[in-house]
Amino acid sequence: MFPKFYMLAKTEGIVLRRYKFGEAGLIAVLYTKDFGKLRVVNKNLLNQERNGGVLDLISLSEVIFVENIANNLNQLISAESNEKFINIYDDFDKFISASYVIEIVNELTCEKDKNENIFYLILEFLEKTDNSDINPYWNAIIFEVLLINMSGNRPVFSSCANCKNIPAGNVRFSFRYSSILCEKCRSFDMESVKLSENTFVYLKKIFEEDLSEIKKTVPENRQVLLLFRFLGRYVESLIDKPIKSLKVFNDLKKNEIIGGNIKCQMK
Ligand SMILES: [Zn+2]
Repeated sequence: MFPKFYMLAKTEGIVLRRYKFGEAGLIAVLYTKDFGKLRVVNKNLLNQERNGGVLDLISLSEVIFVENIANNLNQLISAESNEKFINIYDDFDKFISASYVIEIVNELTCEKDKNENIFYLILEFLEKTDNSDINPYWNAIIFEVLLINMSGNRPVFSSCANCKNIPAGNVRFSFRYSSILCEKCRSFDMESVKLSENTFVYLKKIFEEDLSEIKKTVPENRQVLLLFRFLGRYVESLIDKPIKSLKVFNDLKKNEIIGGNIKCQMK
């Protein structure tokens, strides 16, 4: 029925992005269980959507599509919503943290690079954030550390990037070298930022110790916000562009984290 480059396929995925295509069409980017990040297009979907929203941002949906092996323009045949995570939409902090998570997944993954672990990690994050009162930014931090490690971008907190000594006293972080610096080596990267003692201790823990144990004890709110802001800045340095939901977070939370020792320069 279809030329050999085309195959009919079915999978479920979390909607990372959606935008209009032509008059009534839609392009959606999903992180799917069976194909990794996947882009699907349907020229008429917005008309069908009048009968009930499908492929809403952050929702879990099942899609049937014609896979195009030759390029990434996969033709969407039908979509059905499996889970909408409505509590995330009702809470501003939950919504920002979830928007942040889907934004960094979209930035840090490649199309059709299947990784079931990432799919289930996003799902676990969304279910936990939707159904519990745990600080949603802490949930996002735990997810983010796993994603950073899986993408091979783990920052170094064990020794100074320049002299290789374990810093005593002030610790700085260089986004350029993805590593800490000691105060003596500050000139190695003049844009490095000073880390507060607590932030450094937490960062070292979450990247170097058993995360399944660490995630059980949520730090106090201000510390969570500082860690979230730092990691957001770190991901921005990896992808070399601003993260939109991080800007919303920074604007919203600046009064709650003011006075912190961390001197991140926001874009
Ligand atoms: Zn040094």
